[in-house]
Amino acid sequence: MKLFLTLCLIFILSSAIFSYSIIDSLEIKLQKASGIEKIEILNSLSEHYRENSPEKSIGYGNQALEISKKINNKKLQADALNNIASGYYFLSEYDEALKYYQKSLSINEEIKNFVGVAKVLNNLGLVHRRINNLDKALEYYLQSLKIEEEIENEKGISMSLCNIGNFYYDTDDYSKALEYYLQALAIYEKIRDDKGIATILNNIGIVYDESKDYYIALEYYLKSLDIEEELGNKNGIATTSNNIGLVYYNLGIPDKALEYLFKSLRITEEIGEKYGIANTCINIGKLYAVIDNFDNSILYLNKGLQLSNEIGAIDLKIDAYSLLSDVYSDNKNYKKALEYNTLYSNEKEKIYDRENQKIFTKIESRFETDKKDQEINNLKKTSYLYIIYFLIFILIIIVSIIIFTKYRFREKIIKEMQIVNEQLKQIARTDPLTRLSNRRGILEKIEYEKHRFERSGRPFVLIMSDIDDFKSVNDQHGHECGDYVLKSLSHLMISFLRKQDVVGRWGGEEFLFLLPETTLIGGKGLAEKLRKKIANNQFYFKGSVVNITMSFGVSLYNVKDADTDDYIRKADQALYKGKKQGRNRVVMPE
Ligand code: GH3
Ligand code: MG
Ligand code: MG
Repeated sequence: MKLFLTLCLIFILSSAIFSYSIIDSLEIKLQKASGIEKIEILNSLSEHYRENSPEKSIGYGNQALEISKKINNKKLQADALNNIASGYYFLSEYDEALKYYQKSLSINEEIKNFVGVAKVLNNLGLVHRRINNLDKALEYYLQSLKIEEEIENEKGISMSLCNIGNFYYDTDDYSKALEYYLQALAIYEKIRDDKGIATILNNIGIVYDESKDYYIALEYYLKSLDIEEELGNKNGIATTSNNIGLVYYNLGIPDKALEYLFKSLRITEEIGEKYGIANTCINIGKLYAVIDNFDNSILYLNKGLQLSNEIGAIDLKIDAYSLLSDVYSDNKNYKKALEYNTLYSNEKEKIYDRENQKIFTKIESRFETDKKDQEINNLKKTSYLYIIYFLIFILIIIVSIIIFTKYRFREKIIKEMQIVNEQLKQIARTDPLTRLSNRRGILEKIEYEKHRFERSGRPFVLIMSDIDDFKSVNDQHGHECGDYVLKSLSHLMISFLRKQDVVGRWGGEEFLFLLPETTLIGGKGLAEKLRKKIANNQFYFKGSVVNITMSFGVSLYNVKDADTDDYIRKADQALYKGKKQGRNRVVMPE
């Protein structure tokens, strides 16, 4: 189920979003077109339809493939194969999808079409993720990222970053996942790719969902849904609606949950995406169980189970068995409950290994196995004549292994201690509420930046900022809401800043920014943009909408050996002036 929740809609990222008039005109043009133009139109249509109507997409893809073969145009052949594969992916027919992607990959490699190679590698990763082959998926994403970076394709880079984020999500490393998602989001925002932004917002929502920060998750999902609806992207709407349904389920708001789950079901049925239908049915069954609607619960769980069997989705099957067992047990039908529980245990055992795998340990152990194989081969070559040498050799090896193991053990402990120390250091520099640097953390970073300035002569900017009338947010909506706004605001700031910039929580509702290698004008511009973004943002908390504004005071550190406090004070004085002038503004130093 997680796999579906985190379904990355990367496929569609590579497809343009057409308006219906464009599709119509493509279909009209198609009637008159011939040769290369015709194949290009067929490929465009296939690409467009693959998400919302995959069977149609495969049809167009096959036509494109046939003609491109006739005129022997390899590039268009590879495109068609990729489109057909994506169609099968959306139909949850993964064997077919893999087959077509492989064909597309070898043609792209043959003609050295690197853009195509990178795209197909990414898609291969997605299929492997769906069939629970996570280490293989990661391998493909990394290969793809390498190529995308080489050819400087920003969209492709962000797709790969998103997928690597998904890998970390799948292996429960949420902070790493978030790190990759935010990197991808920054690129999508830079290149103004709405589809990409919607996907990432959904994925970030999933991470918060998993950490039980349901309100934050809901906020991200709703933003994502808005964009998906604006784009008319059915698959995205279905995925996000399913996720919103589950958040409402977790928040204990069943009627809202049902509304969104049925919306998701309606759309997945329209597209014919079986994995999505099965997953949503299972979620609906789970919800009906909570509101004691036994019959409906069984009905939807069985429907989900049947489809999961059809497409071989083991993760969904496991969910369905476990839920059916629970529902029957709640209704005192212990015979059936036991039956499903046995089925559940059997399936679970099959993938137990996979679920508990630490992927890197696996890779490591594979490496170890290779090494041992090699050692054995070497030993076999040794002739009997050298049996004594051999025994000595073995002895040396044993002694070495003992020494080596001891050494490794010590090294491991030292490493673990270093990690714990690092973590303690990190905690001492982190604000527990917002997870930003605290005052100590940000001061250290400023010291570091000062050293850089001494060497490079490039000044940096400090910005002191403070939420306007924050007391009234607490007074009107409660302290819990105030805390939530502080957290949510911090995410917004981080996702807004450039990679090199830093923001820390200076105190209560005050934040200090450090912008390395920035001019006063540059700093002011950034503060102004951030001010607008915050003023236009809406924070949702337990049914209330909260708006806030912030005031900013800017200062430029440009004198060698100067005292940091003086420049923080300057920024603070400018901020104070902004407050006096009426708030919600950016003020420069005198
Ligand atoms: P202004 O800065 O615009 O002058 O007005 P203000 O209302 O924001 O400033 P004031 O200094 O009067 O009040 C700051 C408020 O911020 C009061 C305090 O309860 C609230 N605050 C500070 N830290 C936290 C926190 O961690 N959580 C919550 N919920 N509120 C906080
Ligand atoms: Mg304030
Ligand atoms: Mg204050």
